[in-house]
Amino acid sequence: MTVVRDVPKQLFIGGGWQDAESGRTLSVDNPATGEELCQVADASPADGRRAVEAAVAAQAAWAATAPRVRSEILRRAYDIIIARTEDLALLMTLEMGKPLAEARAEVAYAAEFFRWFSEEAVRIDGGLMTAPDGRNRLLVTRQPVGPCLLITPWNFPLAMGTRKIGPAIAASCTIVLKPAPQTPLASLALAEILTEAGLPAGVLNIVTTSDAAGVVEPLLRGGQIRKLSFTGSTQVGRILLAQCADTVIRTSMELGGNAPLIVFDDADLDEAVEGTMVAKMRNMGESCCAANRIFVHTSVAEEFASRLAARMAALTVGPGTEPGTDVGPLIDNAGRSKAHDLVRDAVKRGATVLTGGELPEGPGCFYPPTVLTGIAPDSAIIDTEIFGPVAAIRTFETEDEAVASANDTEFGLAAYLFTQNLDRALRVAERLESGMIGINTGLVSNPAAPFGGVKQSGLGREGGRVGIDEFLEYKYLAVPVGA
Ligand code: ADP
Repeated sequence: MTVVRDVPKQLFIGGGWQDAESGRTLSVDNPATGEELCQVADASPADGRRAVEAAVAAQAAWAATAPRVRSEILRRAYDIIIARTEDLALLMTLEMGKPLAEARAEVAYAAEFFRWFSEEAVRIDGGLMTAPDGRNRLLVTRQPVGPCLLITPWNFPLAMGTRKIGPAIAASCTIVLKPAPQTPLASLALAEILTEAGLPAGVLNIVTTSDAAGVVEPLLRGGQIRKLSFTGSTQVGRILLAQCADTVIRTSMELGGNAPLIVFDDADLDEAVEGTMVAKMRNMGESCCAANRIFVHTSVAEEFASRLAARMAALTVGPGTEPGTDVGPLIDNAGRSKAHDLVRDAVKRGATVLTGGELPEGPGCFYPPTVLTGIAPDSAIIDTEIFGPVAAIRTFETEDEAVASANDTEFGLAAYLFTQNLDRALRVAERLESGMIGINTGLVSNPAAPFGGVKQSGLGREGGRVGIDEFLEYKYLAVPVGA
């Protein structure tokens, strides 16, 4: 594949491509075939340190650049990404598995973070006020937080990078990016694009490694990283928060979800089924916003479940590179086994399988779209992020019961509700403990919106007007003014 061949496979440090000091490499595999796509450099802690040193060395000059300069680098990178949509989409489909149509949508979504933050780069403001006693003038400015470590997951290989890199560049922070080992190619392609767009050497450094824990911990303890922005599991997020506590590093944490999706009896069922398909099946269900627990009012539950099952059964499962594919493979065999174990556990406890539920034969990490009803309360699927194409439906009688069940989780990232009653939509949305709520829609991601969760789904927001704040510090100057 030319797109794979053309992407650099080395570490990107100080503006140059280099092998890991040890000479080691790690394998990147195609989840649709199980075959190796290529090898990329496998960094050790020493390589990580060199990347941080490059970021630290570049920070002062980068912070002194004009906002317009940073803005235009991002805007040029946006244009290049859009122009290379087909190559980038194919690259992601190959390394991650999603169907090409979804990969193209991700390229557009990912690019939009650069366009959005190119616009935000020139709008970093401060303030001036008179102190209450009338003497001091309080002058407030904003400065970059400093060298940042960005850690991204494999499910949106390009967009999770741009969502962090965009605001970091806009705020004039330097960066060490550690992408997920399963999907390093999109990030490496991004480094080339940003270089072409004029990003100075050392501002972005990329470390690919199979030893995330071994490389990251010394960097967080080394005293030079000022900010960690992490997207991944709550389990790893907790470990990183503890490490950051020791050196008081600022954090943005985009962690796991367990999104409820509520269908009320006054919902437009066509809209609810359509929205559920999006909320459940985008990215094969491998999204932290994916509808994980579906609650349907008893009076419409049967109708909803059979319509959803019909839609799910009609989807075509196959390699993402095939034009007719709706559902690609899961990321790896561990991901597939997890989804299947959750289904088997639910069935053992009494759930009914309306469609799917069988492990397919043959190569690749495929799992069929599956709909379950009659989920018993002690089923593991209720408390576990499924990260696969499995819809688990439960029923409710009253609004209070729906809200209580929806909130009965340690997570609070996304939630969805379907109703034609505006009062109810707003009332329930206010009561749901979630950072993002889709009302009659299954899609909440938008670069112009503050993405993030409450409870153990995370800290901070990405995107929107506030996304850049995560990479800026306030500095206040006290200026006495004589009488
Ligand atoms: P997932 O289960 O979806 O792979 P993880 O939270 O394990 O989610 O991974 C998200 C990102 O965090 C990846 O880039 C991964 O390499 C990285 N990661 C995993 N464990 C650690 C760790 N102990 N320290 C730092 N980064 C980690």
